[in-house]
This record gives sequence, structure tokens and C-alpha cells, in this order.
Amino acid sequence: MTGTQVTWDKVVGTALGLYIHIPFCEKKCSYCDFRTGSYEPAVAGRYARALVREVETFRARGRHSADTVFFGGGTPSLLIPAQLESILAALHEAFEISADVEITLEANPGTLEPEKARAFRSLGVNRISLGVQSFDDAELRRLRRTHDSGAARRAVSSLRRVGFQNFNLDLILGVPGQTDQSWRNNLKQVAELAAPHLSVYMLELHEGTHLFSDYLRGTANLPAEDQVADWYLETVDFLTGLGYNHYEISNFALPGRECRHNLKYWNNEEYIGFGLSSHSHWRGLRFWNEPALLRYLERVKATGEAVAGSEVAQPSERIFLGLRKTEGVPLREVEGRVERFFEAGLLERVGDRVRLTRRGILVSNEIFAQLV
Ligand code: SF4
Repeated sequence: MTGTQVTWDKVVGTALGLYIHIPFCEKKCSYCDFRTGSYEPAVAGRYARALVREVETFRARGRHSADTVFFGGGTPSLLIPAQLESILAALHEAFEISADVEITLEANPGTLEPEKARAFRSLGVNRISLGVQSFDDAELRRLRRTHDSGAARRAVSSLRRVGFQNFNLDLILGVPGQTDQSWRNNLKQVAELAAPHLSVYMLELHEGTHLFSDYLRGTANLPAEDQVADWYLETVDFLTGLGYNHYEISNFALPGRECRHNLKYWNNEEYIGFGLSSHSHWRGLRFWNEPALLRYLERVKATGEAVAGSEVAQPSERIFLGLRKTEGVPLREVEGRVERFFEAGLLERVGDRVRLTRRGILVSNEIFAQLV
């Protein structure tokens, strides 16, 4: 362990968010630098048992309340229902889970056939986040996704058929070879599907990815940054025109469908992560687990947990996390620290709050880096 030692004394606070990391995928996407491995049933079974053990170990620190659970990855929809059931049972045993809990599971089209979706629904999952990324088949191939746009549309209708009222579609903006026309077609499909929640991310280039190799070879065919910025602003106008609340830089929700779990991150609230690489924020500390699968499994087997490092949470985090929300942060929390951004037209005052301007959103990473 590095940094500050985690101490586990009694905490009093609001309900926790619980994050469960599932690090398996069918195949590596071209842009992805997450630490994921390919799905093998025996390894996934061992991993699910380690997750259960890690959750049981946490139980020794008291039975705390929780009101959101998020299965992220990776591709959590690759889990078989029995594995998900054992993890959820352990969570219910270890935490006081509220009756109106939001339980999200990330899924890829093609990995969530109706039978599995029904089984997950009956186990208590009530929100699905579907990695659609694009409705253009050529773009999906360039991203090395395992599905086509038809699979995404079929997945949405089967989610509705089995009773998921609440679901998100992930889309990526700035895909190699993306054109004005293909992006507009994406928006058209999104409007037709009327998903309760949408996440629109701008593609980022990470070293070590297939896309990065293409970039070095000069064959990535990435749209110009200015073009992507225009598409982003056009998307914001289009979706807000359809009645979506643009509540966070990349996130849009129909009324009441904001993701409660992710809001905990942006509100600087407390959450506990289980699984390799997962992060936690609790009792004024941020701590994180082993990132390598075998070490994670060995450590959980030996000690029941796999914390690899920790540090004291910084007050500035509250500001830059809060500024991700379009409602911004209270003026009193940032006074004296952000005046230069007002002058540059990147932040604005609205009543007693401060928020990013449209221009500010486009350079938000630079602003947050300066705030840290
Ligand atoms: S499915 Fe998601 S986590 Fe897996 S490789 Fe693709 S982008 Fe990465």
C-alpha cells in the first residue's frame, strides 16, 4: 500500500454508492485502454467468488446503508445470472440496501439476449447502460466493436419488452471517419429510440490502443477537433430540444432519469468499489484496488481485500467534480480561486452558483487540471 493507511472506524453519513468492476470483454475495442481480459467462464467464476469474499470482508466494518449499485467494466453483461446473483446476495448481506435502490449494469449489444436480460431484471437490476457507441456500421467496425447497429436496436427493444423502463445508451463523438451526415444520422436514431438517458463521450486517444497505432501511422482518420466541438454543441441543442436535461458534461436524462450512482461521484459523495482497479471514496480518503487480475485474486484469497493505495481526498476535488454538472457549484465554494476563468469566458455566475460556459465545457479538462 502507498500513501495514507486506510482506517475503518465508524462513519456516519448518507447512503453509499457501491461499484462492482467486471474486467472481462469479448474483444478489445480500438480506442479502449481499460485493463480488461477476455471472458473465460472459469476465470469469471473465480473472480465472482473473489468479489463475494471482498464484500464479506467489508461487512466486518459495520453494516452501512447503500442506495445505488453499479456493475461497470469491462462488460458486466457477460456474467451469467448465477454469478450476478451471488454478488448481489453478498451485497444485500453486507449492506443495508434501500428499497428504492438503483442497480445499473453495463451491457454491450449482443451480450444481453432477452432471456439473460429477464434473469438480470428478476435479480433486481433496474437500469441498463448499453454501449451502443454509434448507429453507423462502418464506424462500429472502425471502433472494433463486436456488434452492429441492428444489434443495438434489437437490444433496446428487448430491454423494453422485459420491463426495463430505465436505461442509458452510450455514444461516442469523434469516431474515425465520422462525417456530418453520419453524426446527424446518429442523432436521428437516438430521437427515434427515445432512451431515458444518454451519455455522449468525445473519443479520447490513449497510448497502447489500436487507434493510437493507427494515429502514429497516420491512418486514424480522426475528425478535426473543431468539427467534434461543433457536433458536441449541436448535440446539446438537439437533445435539450427533445426534452433531455443536460445535467453533466456528457450526460443527458429525461426528467427524473438522471443516474443516481454517477451523481454521487460528481457530488463528491461516498462510494465503495469492489473488484480489481476499483476506486473508493470514504471517510475523507480515496483508495483503490490492485489493477492486475492475478494479484487481485491472490490478495483477496489471502486477506479478503486488495487495497493497493490510498490518499487523503482534496477539497479541490469537490470543485472540479461539481463543475462537471451543468448546475455548477455554489459561488462561496470557489470564490478567490476561479476569477481568471470568469475573465476568459470559461465560467459564469448564475445567481449564487458558478458553472462552465459552453466554451468552458469544451476545454473543461484543462480547467480542471488547473484547479487541481
Ligand atoms: S467493451 Fe468497453 S471495456 Fe471492453 S474493450 Fe470495449 S470499450 Fe473497453
